[in-house]
Amino acid sequence: MSKYKAKIGLEMHCEISKTNTKLFSGAQNTYTEHANTCVRPVDMAFPGTLPVLNKEAVRLSLMTSMILGCKQPEYMYFERKNYYYPDLPKGYQITQETKPIPVGIYGSVTFECEGTLKTVRVNNIHLEEDAASLDHYYNTSNIDYNRAGVPLLELVTEPDFHSAEEAVAFLEHMRSVYQYANISDADTKKGQIRCDVNVSIMDESLDENNPENWGTKVEIKNVNSFGGVKDAINYEIKRQIELKETGEYDKMEQQTRRWDEESGTTKFMRSKVDAIDYKYFVEPNIPKFKLDPKWLEEIKKSIPRLALERKQEYQNTYGLSNYDATVLVKEREVADYFENCIQLGIEPKIASNWVSGNILGEVNKEGISIQDFYLTPAMLKQIIDPLQKGIISSKQAKEIFQKSITEKKEPKTMISTENAQISDEKELLEIITSILEKNSSQIEEYKNGRTNLFDYFVGQVMKETRGKANPVKTKELLTKELSK
Ligand code: ADP
Ligand code: MG
Repeated sequence: MSKYKAKIGLEMHCEISKTNTKLFSGAQNTYTEHANTCVRPVDMAFPGTLPVLNKEAVRLSLMTSMILGCKQPEYMYFERKNYYYPDLPKGYQITQETKPIPVGIYGSVTFECEGTLKTVRVNNIHLEEDAASLDHYYNTSNIDYNRAGVPLLELVTEPDFHSAEEAVAFLEHMRSVYQYANISDADTKKGQIRCDVNVSIMDESLDENNPENWGTKVEIKNVNSFGGVKDAINYEIKRQIELKETGEYDKMEQQTRRWDEESGTTKFMRSKVDAIDYKYFVEPNIPKFKLDPKWLEEIKKSIPRLALERKQEYQNTYGLSNYDATVLVKEREVADYFENCIQLGIEPKIASNWVSGNILGEVNKEGISIQDFYLTPAMLKQIIDPLQKGIISSKQAKEIFQKSITEKKEPKTMISTENAQISDEKELLEIITSILEKNSSQIEEYKNGRTNLFDYFVGQVMKETRGKANPVKTKELLTKELSK
């Protein structure tokens, strides 16, 4: 690939799954296997029905626009994109065109790819309705309207990616953003993320900042998994290089292809000349409306801390390794659990080890979310505190952890402080100091040569702690205190 450079642009669709209802109807916005159970007449385009815009969907799309550093519009408006397909009952999709301005334009995304930060430009982000879905059977196809009208965000990047790895790292980053900001579950298994991938190649020696030097792009439609995106890009780069070598690439028309998962190849669909004319016009049933600057300000303030920011904090403030921090921020619930531990006073490194080790191990084994894990951060503290004080050994700590989650009992009920040793230096020192304060004449005598009084002081500490003081530590501390 040394002679050529790939230019890749993504059109990433993500369903907003965190609204109660759909974009233009009161039907539930939930994912279910039961076809046609979340449907209202609007979703099936019954005559006489009219769309009512969902304010929460607008709020979440504006929040996404802000996270991407985009410019927000003064007015919101929608447009009709006209085409015929069985999954589109109205015969048009309500969407936003890029002019004058959709929910966001001209932003950027900074994400991590193979350990380094990379920034790509966002051309625009727009809000639209999802189409219904078709279920194909042996000799028939059924339409499921559950997806019809689900709010959908389409994010269009500039062609700033140069490899499949960068494109996938970006998608993973955006999935995390959608999850952290509570906009979407962004679950590829539920088809909530879908991508169109645009690929071209250009001579490595030419200036990529000049669009005139770009090659002719090929758009690959509807790639539904991140693995698919990676394979489709790599396949397409290889195919285009082969065309370049035979001189055919430069004669090629702009074209749309589709990713064929089974064969692992892209297949020709149509060329630019057969491009569909969508006959866009302003959606007359949703009058444009002004966005209140105060509302925009409120939305901006409510953006939560996202994964990359938290990860940098874990590394810079808590001194965690890149690897540990990555594990902790992978899911927001895990990061929240970890931060709860810190708030309770558990040392970050210790909390990190427990969370990414024992706790995630159990959570994954049980196949549950960490939110539903029996052992809360407060209960974890009940194990870590006595462990650090030397009351229990690390072997005992692991046993208590296991027993607590199997028997659903709080760890503190399993640690008998009655018989436990006091090994905590601070605690011992407090006891020793108070004993020495009460025995000033004995200290005099001790310092004047009655060294056998040392055992008397040890005895006093034992008496005070009913024999629980760690004898080795007690003697160590006493020697130090008496030599002062
Ligand atoms: P269209 O008018 O065909 O929709 P756009 O200019 O709107 O094309 O771009 C759509 C997507 O294609 C964007 O993600 C953009 O980054 C990408 N793109 C545009 N030109 C190229 C190119 N030469 N190579 C790769 N991707 C491209
Ligand atoms: Mg376009």
